[in-house]
Formats: sequence, structure tokens, C-alpha cells
Amino acid sequence: MTAGLPADEYAKLREAVVTTIWNELDPLAEGIENTERIPYDVVLPALRSCGAFGLIVPRAYGGYGLSMAQYLPILSEFAKTQGGIRAIVHVHNSFAHALSEIGSEEQKDEILPGTATGEKSLAFALTEPGNGTGADLSTTARRDGDDYVINGRKWLITNSDIASHFLVFAKTSPQEVSALIVPRDTPGFTIKPLPETMGCKGAEHGELTFTDVRVPARSLVGAEGEGQAHLERALEISRVFIAASSLGTATRALDLSLKFAQERVTFGKPIGQRQAVQRYLAEMAIDVYALRGMLADAAAKWDAGRRIPAESSMVKQFGLEAVGRVTDRALLVHGGIGYTRKHPVERLYRDARLNWLEEGTPTIQYLVAARELIGGYTFDDAFNAVAA
Ligand SMILES: Cc1cc2nc3c(=O)[nH]c(=O)nc-3n(C[C@H](O)[C@H](O)[C@H](O)COP(=O)(O)OP(=O)(O)OC[C@H]3O[C@@H](n4cnc5c(N)ncnc54)[C@H](O)[C@@H]3O)c2cc1C
Repeated sequence: MTAGLPADEYAKLREAVVTTIWNELDPLAEGIENTERIPYDVVLPALRSCGAFGLIVPRAYGGYGLSMAQYLPILSEFAKTQGGIRAIVHVHNSFAHALSEIGSEEQKDEILPGTATGEKSLAFALTEPGNGTGADLSTTARRDGDDYVINGRKWLITNSDIASHFLVFAKTSPQEVSALIVPRDTPGFTIKPLPETMGCKGAEHGELTFTDVRVPARSLVGAEGEGQAHLERALEISRVFIAASSLGTATRALDLSLKFAQERVTFGKPIGQRQAVQRYLAEMAIDVYALRGMLADAAAKWDAGRRIPAESSMVKQFGLEAVGRVTDRALLVHGGIGYTRKHPVERLYRDARLNWLEEGTPTIQYLVAARELIGGYTFDDAFNAVAA
């Protein structure tokens, strides 16, 4: 059961973060898009001072310990503006939260207080160039006395330029996946950038190489072979975070479209008075409303201490489809000007596309949801409780 922050403290924190987003970060968006670089000297202090790095770090470690019902609207606000900054905040918070659930007391004491302030950060290293995701890994961690020795490659790892630690998934035997924490400066561990991405500009998603990287056995998270379970636990809530990002992007695209439809006049009338345009707007609003409802349900269940294995994949999948439709219609409403580089709907359209990939492709979301449902999982919800 997660109660989160008392309402008055939450209102102040949310106000501080939202003000930072619109007053300090949003004005940087055009520069980031042009240079494909995030000015860390401005962005990181701004995020630190408003508290964005400690949002879901437990209070015992210096964070705010927000409930998911409190966190999702704040994350969603980040997705209304520049996507690279949203990616940094998402990965930082998501894996600080994961560590708070799966890490040992020693690991939490060492890393979490620094993540709450933003001095430390944990990146998530699963994806590999030569293999599939999940159990199909080629990175190995071999036990050698009191150490593990890691060899392999990872790529597309967000925050690889700023993370102090990496949660690395590796095979400790041919059948077993384990999770280990690797500090950035460990000998044999090298990081290099990958080419810039289609959207979410400026955030870095690097390639990691491990050549006989030696870490103490206490770097293991949980027991050997528990990596797959940790992965599923971490991704379960992180997929909901991607859906919240979809909601933020879709909400902004709808807001911009509503405004534009009332201002743009053709043939003597605002286009918003034409039935064809009204239909686009209504369809966009339906997607936003439905996604918001699914997110509220998922957050309430998680905050009540329930697992949400099917809901997380279903809301992540619905969210990316919804934001895809909404940003597409936003372009239709805006006509040609929406397609130009400096227009926010052009950026939102590109930024949203990452939601298809982060925390797994649509294929995996269908697979997870169907597997749970065939296995007997039911997503009974508040709606049924009221009806009963
Ligand atoms: C900007 C960005 C940031 C990222 N950040 C991170 C990060 O921080 N940490 C991290 O670990 N990863 C990260 N990723 C990686 C991301 O999670 C993966 O790209 C995504 O999960 C897809 O994996 P893949 O690229 O290996 O594609 P592949 O697995 O090669 O998939 C290619 C296609 O084949 C399909 N496919 C693959 N296997 C199967 C199968 N068995 N059955 C049916 N269909 C299949 C997929 O659905 C997809 O359509 C990031 C990616 C991007 C683009």
C-alpha cells in the first residue's frame, strides 16, 4: 500500500516541477532540436532543484516517495515538452524505483540517497546488438572467487552519458539471467555514443562494452538466476510510465489542435466549425480520456499493493496506439504548418514514436498480456466492484 506524499506537500512539489518544466525547460526545446544536444549544465541543476530526480525514491532514502497516482501526472507533464528531457527523467526515476524494490539494503544505502538528489543515477542495461531481449542474452557474468567477471555488449542504453551505475542483465549460467550493478568507472567497462535518434533528441542511448569487468559478488541484485523475475517486476511499472508519457504527448497534441482549430480561418470560418475537423478533435479526446482512465486504474491497483502484469502491457500498448492516432490527427488539423520543423506538433509526432520501443515492442506487450490472461489472470476493476 503506497499512500504517497500528503496532499498539501504533493501540491507544492507538483507546482514546483510543472513551473520548472514550462519556465526553464520548455524554452530550451528548440535549441535541443537544432543541436541534438541537451545542455546538461542548465537542465540537470533545474531538474535537481525542483526535486524531479527524487519523485519516486522512497522517503527513507531522501526522496519524495510519491504514489503512482501522484507520479504519473508529473511524468506526463514532462512528455508535453521536449522528449529527450522526458527520457532522462523517466529512466532515472524508473530504475531508482526498481532498485528500491529489488536491491539489497547495502545497495540501496549506497545508491538511493544520491539518486534522490540527482548526484547519482542508475541506467538500465538489457538490450544487446547480437541477441534478443529477456532470456536471449549473450552477456555473461562468471563467478570467480568473491567477484563476478562480466563480458559482453549492450546498446541503446539511455542515460549512458550521465549514469553513475548500470543495472546490467547477464547470464550467470546458460539457463539463468542475473542482474548486477556496475559502477561507471569500473576497469574494462567502456561506453560510446550511438547515432542520434528520430525523436527525443539530445538524450544519449549508448553502447556498452564489458571486457573482463570485475565487480564484487555483493553487486548481484537478489540471488543468482533471479534476473528474469527482477526484469519483469521492473518493467511491470515502467511500462505504465511509458503509457503516462503517451498520455502527456497526446494531451499536448490535443490542446494545440483545439487552439489552432479555433484560430485558423478558411473560407471565412474557423476550421473548428467544420464537422470534419470536429471529428478529428473528438477522436483525439476519446483516446486521451480512455488512456487517462486506464492509467488511473493501473495506478490505483499498484498503489494498493497489487501486481498488474496484464494491465501494464495493455495500457502501454493502448497508450502508444492512442498517441500515434492523436499525433497523426494533430498533424491533419494543423495542415502544412504542423509539418514544419519548429512546430511543436512535428516534434510531438517524432517523440511519441519512441514509445513503441521503450520497455518492449508491441509484439512483447501482446505476448505478455495474452500469456497472463490464458494463465487465468483477471483484471477485475473498480468498475465491476461498483456494478456489483
Ligand atoms: C531511444 C531508445 C532508448 C532505449 N533505451 C534503452 C535502455 O535504457 N535500456 C535498454 O536495455 N534498452 C533500451 N532500448 C532498447 C529497446 O528496449 C529495444 O530497442 C526494444 O525493446 C526492441 O528490441 P530490439 O531493438 O533488440 O529489437 P528486436 O528484438 O531485434 O526486434 C525487431 C523486431 O522483431 C520483433 N521480434 C523480435 N523478437 C521476436 C520474437 N521472438 N517473436 C516475435 N517478434 C519478435 C520485434 O517485435 C520487432 O518488431 C532503447 C531503444 C531506443 C530506440
